Amino acid sequence: MIVIMHPHATPDDVEQVKERLRQAGLRPYVAQGDERVVIHGHGNPRALDGQQVETLRGVERVVTVSRPYKLASREFRPEPTVVAAGGVPFGGDAIPIIAGPCSVESEAGLLEIAGFLRRAGGAALRGGAFKPRTSPYSFQGLGQEGLRLLALARQVTGLPVVTEVMAPEQVEQVAAYADVLQIGARNMQNFPLLQAVGRTRKPVLLKRGFMATVEEWLLAAEYILAEGNPHVILCERGIRTFETSTRNTLDLNAVAVAKSLTHLPVIVDPSHGTGHREYVIPLARAAVAVGADGLIVEVHPRPDQALSDGNQSLDFAQFQQLVEEVEAVARALGRRLFRHGDEPGRQAARDGTVTGAGREGRAGAGREGRGDGQPGLPRPGEPDVPVGPAAGGAAPSPRRAAAGGGN
Ligand code: PEP
Ligand code: MN
Repeated sequence: MIVIMHPHATPDDVEQVKERLRQAGLRPYVAQGDERVVIHGHGNPRALDGQQVETLRGVERVVTVSRPYKLASREFRPEPTVVAAGGVPFGGDAIPIIAGPCSVESEAGLLEIAGFLRRAGGAALRGGAFKPRTSPYSFQGLGQEGLRLLALARQVTGLPVVTEVMAPEQVEQVAAYADVLQIGARNMQNFPLLQAVGRTRKPVLLKRGFMATVEEWLLAAEYILAEGNPHVILCERGIRTFETSTRNTLDLNAVAVAKSLTHLPVIVDPSHGTGHREYVIPLARAAVAVGADGLIVEVHPRPDQALSDGNQSLDFAQFQQLVEEVEAVARALGRRLFRHGDEPGRQAARDGTVTGAGREGRAGAGREGRGDGQPGLPRPGEPDVPVGPAAGGAAPSPRRAAAGGGN
């Protein structure tokens, strides 16, 4: 049973509900959002009549959820949630593409990539500063310097930044630079880390563990939501199967399944999902066709020189091709690609619609989780993305390092 408290409910009201749940043998868990409290009563759903609880002071609504994950379930919130990440909406009609190198390697290289992506239709910049590498001898990332470079690239291009955080004690440091905190596949069940990012109000990109079921993935999301952070974007990135011709098996079933079970946006990573650049574009097309709310792809100007995941990184021409082909699939399905700087007129012309809301309008147009009467946890307003001048082609990286292996 989930009890959604009124925004003006007092701590005493919350205590009273908790006590009522306890009396019925339910264990109360409190998720403190920014605007309201949601109390999950764990235990036998028939232990207590929801209508009775609804009469308690400060209670807005009671929802009964049969799934083990509660706040993540569609029963809790039937409407899709739109997560605004640095001003880019995930989960609405527009499909954003996050792109960038596997690892941040150098200032010149990152600015070259970010400037290109901004011009080519990228919605956000990805890049690992702290890298989870299978071998301790592989490149581990630039750490703090990588974060600084990501912030610089955002300042120059206006692209919001997505980067991985690997440990609870790193969350504050990474959150000071990132627009989106990425939880990598290897950390999907690092529960203290999930709780730590749950205590922030930063959007979280939660990758599916390569041996995790969809239910385990949604329960991992629940850890974040239960701490009061409603800004969770799920990412399917391939699972480990008996197949060896690709690095992982991109589980597009899971996208369709997850979309039916949760209101959270679900995006797809065809780079790690396949491990080979030649398969990234076809699987990106397929991901959008199956209903993905976005993509995250690895792009490098010289993939053969990348310090990590060069095999699966697209070069610039391939990224341009991906954007064109994915856009065609999106349009065939009545959706569109998210692009920075799309004025309503241009967007409308592209869509063939007569009028269109601006970017802010689209992001907030009814599918947003706040203030629309839906029981989603309250979400703080996200500042719109600072649109700086698109960077010109920066000088290529002077560093010529050996191509890195897979993570
Ligand atoms: C990455 O995005 O570079 C990465 C390490 O992803 P994953 O956690 O999915 O392997
Ligand atoms: Mn990678």
